[in-house]
Amino acid sequence: MSESDSQAHHPHTCEILELFRLRGDSQYGSEPVSQLEHALQAAWFAEQQGAEPCLVAAALLHDVGHLLHDLPDDAPEQGIDDRHEILAARWLQRRFPVEVCAPVQLHVAAKRYLCAVEPEYFNQLSPASILSLRLQGGAMTEQERLAFEQLPGSAAAVRLRRWDDAAKLTGLQTPPLEHFARQLDACLVPSTPARHDAGENG
Ligand code: FE
Repeated sequence: MSESDSQAHHPHTCEILELFRLRGDSQYGSEPVSQLEHALQAAWFAEQQGAEPCLVAAALLHDVGHLLHDLPDDAPEQGIDDRHEILAARWLQRRFPVEVCAPVQLHVAAKRYLCAVEPEYFNQLSPASILSLRLQGGAMTEQERLAFEQLPGSAAAVRLRRWDDAAKLTGLQTPPLEHFARQLDACLVPSTPARHDAGENG
């Protein structure tokens, strides 16, 4: 019996497990890992570094936006910014608390932020990440950087970003998806659909 089968999970946790089972095999852009492998590695790094359950959940879910649209895996190569962080945040806001949603929404901004404050950060980005960075607006200006630092969740987003950047390792062994179901459950208040609502249905 798997970890997920051994206990009942929150309906939103079940929804997420199903989404990864249905669509997690898709490639993570032009990186050498699948969307599921990328999510598991990011969540595993977060857990290993002692992140609280909601930030582990955010790491697992940071790219869920890629599983919610039908754009091709190589959208950036076609010059398309899929704005997956916005799509993800809107979807998550109807399910998870702000401690999960905010770092997800800001994880692309965090890349632009780190490019502005750490000159060496840019040099370790993958070619695919550099390509998408251009579409996302490049490094932040000084004004953007100062505004970003004031946003709730921006520090958590920067932590998440580093796990995101590292989570592209071929063949890395991680716990299975079901391992993280408990962290998802821990972020969800039983029988409460959402703590806030983005006001959208999509
Ligand atoms: Fe990612």
